[in-house]
Amino acid sequence: NNAVFSSDENGVLYSKDKTVLMKYPGNSALTVFAVPETVTEISDYAFENSYKIKTVCIPESVSSIGYGAFFNSYLEKIIVNSDNKNYSSDSFGVLFNKDKTTFIFVGGKGGVGKSTVSVNLAYALANHGYQTGLMDLDIHGPSIAKMLGIEDLRLQAIGNKIMPIKVTGSLKAVSMALLLNETDSPVVWRGPMKAAAIQQFLGDVDWGELDYLVVDLPPGTGDEALNIVQFAPNVEGAVIVTTPQDVAVLDSTKAIKFIEMMDLPVLGIIENMSGLVCPHCGEILEVFGKGGGVKAAEKYEVPYLGAIPIDIEMRKAGDEGRPFIIRKPGQDKNPTWEAVDKVMENLIAEVEKREE
Ligand code: ADP
Repeated sequence: NNAVFSSDENGVLYSKDKTVLMKYPGNSALTVFAVPETVTEISDYAFENSYKIKTVCIPESVSSIGYGAFFNSYLEKIIVNSDNKNYSSDSFGVLFNKDKTTFIFVGGKGGVGKSTVSVNLAYALANHGYQTGLMDLDIHGPSIAKMLGIEDLRLQAIGNKIMPIKVTGSLKAVSMALLLNETDSPVVWRGPMKAAAIQQFLGDVDWGELDYLVVDLPPGTGDEALNIVQFAPNVEGAVIVTTPQDVAVLDSTKAIKFIEMMDLPVLGIIENMSGLVCPHCGEILEVFGKGGGVKAAEKYEVPYLGAIPIDIEMRKAGDEGRPFIIRKPGQDKNPTWEAVDKVMENLIAEVEKREE
């Protein structure tokens, strides 16, 4: 009822009071619509079904865009006036909410617990009331989907947007693995094809409003990851997951160099599998020694975000697809969750420091 615009099937746009703002002639070459400077809000479903419009230009005056505003509109491009403080669009016409979503990329080599850390970090952010998205870009395996217990679901598309899966009230997730049929064999995807798929995926998800988007990067140093970052504006930086053993053999150097090569600021290092939570007494046993992550962070002059211990419950919870169960209600002292929360708090502090 409160639509700023609505349109009929002929692509005629109406303003709130049903004044015809713009009428599309039959000529389909005219497919650009510039929202007038007087408009401050584009309401829910405002451009729904306006199938002739291929490009919408959004002026500085627009400060909010409603849910499903471009639903089923066949839009190809959204251009945002560069002075608009609320939204930005990249060269592909993907619309980003400018100051709201903080992109956090999680990198590291395979097997260091990148997926586990991404999932738990996203849960921690969501549990603290942040609207959080978790994006799994690993097409080689559905590990994040498995950990979240959503591996049997498939992503749905509305219009030309992919709808993420709602894991909890404040956590949404997408995984490239959930796009594929079992018969697809993503392992043989070659570089450029993979890059294109990842780029498209990154731009095509309708997240709604998000405070944080945690992106689990594919492992390794393939150049597809370079494209990912170019594609996503608004990127705050990357966190690097290492293990005490990596730190010992300086494997994290590679990860840091790689992230810096992508022109991404390093938000910090997280040391995973650091010590072991004793299943009997709950104490942390320092199996591989302590302080490697701190030393590495000092050496490379990047922030140290904290350590997450090896917790058998964490692995089990991940395997069962229920990462939340280790945060049992009524149990206020759990060293693993305390560690994850601490990492999250340090990360948020780091992000806020940069935004100042
Ligand atoms: P990556 O994404 O880096 O390949 P994963 O997150 O899949 O690594 O972790 C590899 C294995 O290690 C998984 O079985 C996971 O459950 C386990 N794991 C990772 N971090 C921890 C931890 N802190 N405590 C216990 N198990 C962990």
